[in-house]
Formats: sequence, C-alpha cells, structure tokens
Amino acid sequence: MLEKIKQQLADSNARLVAVSKTHPSSKILDLYEKGQRIFGENKAQEVVEKQEALPKDIEWHFIGHLQRNKVKYIAPFIHTIHSIDSLRLLKEINKQAAKHQRVVHCLLQFHIAQEDSKFGLDMVEAKAILDDPEYQILENVKITGVMGMATYTDKLDQVRSEFTSLKLIFDQLKESYFQEADDFKEISMGMSGDYELAVAEGSTLVRIGSLLFGARHYG
Ligand SMILES: *Cc1c(COP(=O)(O)O)cnc(C)c1O
Repeated sequence: MLEKIKQQLADSNARLVAVSKTHPSSKILDLYEKGQRIFGENKAQEVVEKQEALPKDIEWHFIGHLQRNKVKYIAPFIHTIHSIDSLRLLKEINKQAAKHQRVVHCLLQFHIAQEDSKFGLDMVEAKAILDDPEYQILENVKITGVMGMATYTDKLDQVRSEFTSLKLIFDQLKESYFQEADDFKEISMGMSGDYELAVAEGSTLVRIGSLLFGARHYG
C-alpha cells in the first residue's frame, strides 16, 4: 500500500504523513525501512514513547486536539503541530519550544466540515490570531499553513467543496499575511477515505492511517 500511495503522490505536490496512532513501534519501523520518514500521532504520551524508541531522523507530526498542559512533553522534538485552534495554544508552544531553542511548525486548523464535532477556527478567529501583537512577537513557532478535516460522508461533491474551501482559506491568508513567507506552503487535508480528492484540490500533506496500518483497535 505504501508504494501505491507514494506513486499516486509522486505527480503531485503532496507528501505523506503516515498516521501511526495506536499502532506499535514495530509497525512504524517497517515503514521506516521502506523509506517513510513522516509519522503522525494524536496523543502526547504515545508520541513521546515512540520518539524515544525509534530512529531520530523521523519527522513527528501532532495531528489531534492538543491540551496546553501536554505541550511541554512534545516540545523537545515535535516537527509540526497540525491542530492550532487558539492563540493561547500557540503561546504555550512558543514558550516550551524556546526552552529547547527550537522553532515548531504550526498549522491553523479550520472547521470546514458540516459536522459540529470537528473543531477548528473560522476565518474571523484566524485573522484575530494573526493580527494580535502577542502572536506577532512569537519567535519559536512558525505558521506554515492550514489543516482541515472534511465531513465523514460518501457525498463526494460535499467533500470536494470542503477541500476547495480550505484551499481558498489558504490562498486568502497567503495573500493577506504570508506573501513574503516562502515556508507558508502547507495544506494538510485528506485521509484514507478521501486523500485522492484532497490531492486533486491542492493538498500538500495527506494524513493516512488505516489504509497503511489496517484498522485501529482502541483498548
Ligand atoms: C486518525 C486521523 C487521521 C487518519 O485517519 P485514517 O482514516 O485512518 O486515514 C487523519 N487525520 C487526523 C486528524 C486523525 O485523527
């Protein structure tokens, strides 16, 4: 499956985040040995344990809701956090990253789905963060793009239009805030069920779990 996905992404702008949450380190190592380097997790304790056990050139991405009191555990090594939904969270990441002289890449998570359950910002809230002087002085976080999750549905038109809306949000933010910032370039969208659509709509990071690792079993 890894080879097939890599071939599909090869002609596109998108990289693969292998979402390894709930799966053991041995399975991560299997993909690592096939060349995969970016892995995504959604629990602080789990990613800390895996980071300690696994090769140090893995690029770890945090993809789920992140509580501020957990930031300190992942700040020493986390590469990108996909789930920024407040200035308070950004400030905590900045504070913890500074202790390790690091800059953590951050994606603003937008609410693009019709479902209420999926959290994230809207444009007004995102602009409020970006306009805030307290954000503008942060030196140990760098906003490198946006992230969103489509509605869980088999209505392809709906999923496509949600991805299109995230691409538009990206374009507007780029134009208004990040014109000079070459590293504002990521659109994190697409999962096992919808990544092909996401890539067609401009995704640069697809987050794929079950297609690579099989179904997850929660204990
Ligand atoms: C679990 C998860 C994924 C991967 O989901 P699959 O359907 O298994 O590919 C992607 N993004 C987020 C935010 C997740 O929590």
